[in-house]
Amino acid sequence: MFEHYRFTADERFLRYVQVDTQSDPQSSAYPTTEKQKDLSRVLAGELKQMGIADAHMDEWGYVYATIPSNTDKKVPVICFCAHVDTAPDCSGTGVKPIVHKNYQGQDIVLPDDNTQVLRMSDYPYLQKLVGHDIITASGTTLLGSDDKAGVAEIMDLANFLMTNKSVKHGEIKILITPDEEVGRGTAKVDLKKLGAEFAYTLDGGDAGSLEDETFSADGVEVVIKGVIAHPGYAKDKMINAMKIAGEILAALPKDRLSPESTDGKRGFIHPVRIEGIAEKCTLEFIIRDFETAGLVKKEDYLRTQIEERLRTYPKAGFEFHVKEQYRNMKEVLDLHPQVVEYAKTAIQRSGLEVKMESIRGGTDGSRLSFMGLPCPNLFTGMQGIHSKLEHISVQDMNKAVETLVHLVQIWEEKN
Ligand SMILES: [Zn+2]
Repeated sequence: MFEHYRFTADERFLRYVQVDTQSDPQSSAYPTTEKQKDLSRVLAGELKQMGIADAHMDEWGYVYATIPSNTDKKVPVICFCAHVDTAPDCSGTGVKPIVHKNYQGQDIVLPDDNTQVLRMSDYPYLQKLVGHDIITASGTTLLGSDDKAGVAEIMDLANFLMTNKSVKHGEIKILITPDEEVGRGTAKVDLKKLGAEFAYTLDGGDAGSLEDETFSADGVEVVIKGVIAHPGYAKDKMINAMKIAGEILAALPKDRLSPESTDGKRGFIHPVRIEGIAEKCTLEFIIRDFETAGLVKKEDYLRTQIEERLRTYPKAGFEFHVKEQYRNMKEVLDLHPQVVEYAKTAIQRSGLEVKMESIRGGTDGSRLSFMGLPCPNLFTGMQGIHSKLEHISVQDMNKAVETLVHLVQIWEEKN
C-alpha cells in the first residue's frame, strides 16, 4: 500500500517548524497569540489544495476539514487532532531545522550553540533510531515537534487519502487547535460543528506508544484565619496565619506524595501558591492521582494535617475548598473500548510494538473525552520536547502516518 507513496510528513514538518507559533499563558486573547494563525492559515490552504472542499480556519484559529467517506458502510465519524502552538518554556522564533541523515549513534552537536549536545546516554530512545534520519533545531530554539509532528502527520494522512482513493474509510474529520500548551486548546472548539463521534490526538512520543490514561486532578484552596493584634501588645493574643501555613507546608512528607518523589502511577499533593498576611493566609494545592478515590484520600490526608497543626491554636480557623480540574480520560474510554483496541491493531499492522502509557498530566484529549468526544493519544515520534535538544526521527513520523492509514481502514472493516 505504501510502496508507491512518497511520504510528505517530513517535508511539511520542516516548513511548519519555521513558522513561530508560540502561545502565551499571560494573554487573555483567543488565540493567546495571533501568530499561531500564520500556520493555521497555511494548513487550511494546503488542505483545500488537496481537494478538501470545506477546509477552513475560524476566527479563533481552529482549522476544521472533512475528508468524505468513500465506503457504502455506515462507519462512525472519527477525528484526528493536533495543536499548532509551541510551548512558552523555550523560544520558538527563527527555528532552523537540521536533518541528520543516517544517524550512527554519535553525539550531535548543535551548530548555533556548541554546549547543546544530543547524546544517546541522555536520551536512551536514540538507541532505536540508529540508521534513521533525525531532525533537530540548531541550538538556540526548541524544534516544535510538539506538536508540529502531529500536524504534519495528519496533513500527510489527508494527502494520502486524497491521492489513494482505493483505500476505504468512513468520514474523517481534521481538527487543528491553538493554545494547547497553555491549557486552552479546547476553549473555543465547536464539537457540534466538528460532528465526530471519536477522536485521536497526535501528541505522543515513542513510536508505538498509545496513551489512554491521564491524571485525575483537583485544586484545593486552604484559607488559614489567624488573630490579628498590634504587635507591641500582642502577647497571648496574636495568632499569625503565615506561621501556621509554614507549619502545614513543613508537615507535608518529602519522600512520598510529592512531585519530587513520585513517578509511574503514584499521585501527589503539591503546594503551588502561597499568599497572605499575619491575619489571613491562603495556600493553593494541586492534587493528582489516576483514580478519583485516590484524590479524595489525598484531600482527606491534607485536611487531617491542617487540623492537627491547628489543634495548638484553638482560636485560629481554616476553610478548605476543593475544585475539580479534570478527570482521567480512561473513565470515558473504557465505555468505548473499540477506540483504543483499533488503535492497538493499527500500530501492530505498522509493524510496531504497542506501548501503553499513562500521562502524568492532563491533555486536550482528556478534556475532549469529558466534553463527549472520547479521545486517546497516539505517538508522533517527538522526543526531548520543550527543549533545545528536541528531536524527531523521519522514519518514526512516517510510521505514525502509516498507523493512521491502517486505523481509518480498521474502522471501516469493523463496521
Ligand atoms: Zn503537545
